[in-house]
Amino acid sequence: MKNIAVIGAGTMGNGIAHTFAQSGFKVQLIDISEASLKRGMDTISKNLDRMVAKEKITEADKAETLGNITTYTSIKEGVEYAGLVVEAATENLDLKLKIFKQLDEACPEDTILASNTSSISITQIAAVTSRPKMVIGMHFMNPVPIMKLVEIIRGYNTSDEVTNTIMELSRNLGKTPTEVNDYPGFVANRILMPMLNEAIETLYNGVAGVEEIDTVMKLGMAHPMGPLQLADFIGLDICLSILNVMYDGFKNPKYAPCPLLVNMVMAGKLGVKSGEGFYDYSESRKAEKIAKQFSK
Ligand code: NAD
Repeated sequence: MKNIAVIGAGTMGNGIAHTFAQSGFKVQLIDISEASLKRGMDTISKNLDRMVAKEKITEADKAETLGNITTYTSIKEGVEYAGLVVEAATENLDLKLKIFKQLDEACPEDTILASNTSSISITQIAAVTSRPKMVIGMHFMNPVPIMKLVEIIRGYNTSDEVTNTIMELSRNLGKTPTEVNDYPGFVANRILMPMLNEAIETLYNGVAGVEEIDTVMKLGMAHPMGPLQLADFIGLDICLSILNVMYDGFKNPKYAPCPLLVNMVMAGKLGVKSGEGFYDYSESRKAEKIAKQFSK
């Protein structure tokens, strides 16, 4: 398996392309948007620069990694020789079903089709293809070049052979793959999201403020980041959509998203990406912080 096609050049797609390319694979990075492809390649280049500065890789390694990636705006052209496709397009069920139908038609019949979805059923995605045995979840964590875990999700029909191939391939990337079954939220988000939701509920009930809740979890539980800050980093819209998938999938009220989370998403407060969530990430706030530092 030498050729890996990656669909989507956003946050996750460019990280996945970077990781495969740095391990010597030829990567075909595909996005509908030229601007996203450019942004994705710029991000990969900047992240490689950081590794060169830390002397983890050489300038020659950087050039080789970038040379392993080719960009495409057409799925049909990009997947022609792919042994594996990793789909990392926007988290939207209809979009993913459309992409997998297209991939099934365009890819050679022995190509394995993987999705990096955070919450959508692999079994449902596989059902729109003619090769459900060869469809699997490869859930990388953000930032992909750094985080060790890949949650490998077996759909209802995924074969042992395909699972073993993908486990082995993930190890070859220097990752630690962990096999789980296909139920809402898989394992990572089934455990993480109720904790983040409970932190929001604690704030909503007025038990403590944002910084107090995060401090308790950071210092008391040795979490590197408080739950409200983590929710801001993941994106509050993403947290809401994952909780809704679990709420609908299990029909269990314990997964019901906190009304405060719903309200914040409706108000466009999505966390870091929108400039404001539980914390303020706006340019004016950054300028204020810098001014404070200089006045000390
Ligand atoms: P993103 O919004 O940063 O990027 C999505 C990219 O998909 C965009 O560049 C967009 O142009 C592209 N795209 C949309 N439709 C397309 C199509 N038809 N063909 C090709 N490209 C298309 O999103 P992201 O955060 O990188 O998330 C991607 C996937 O990874 C989602 O399924 C998400 O749930 C999952 N995921 C995200 C994270 C995270 O922390 N962001 C973590 C794990 C998994």
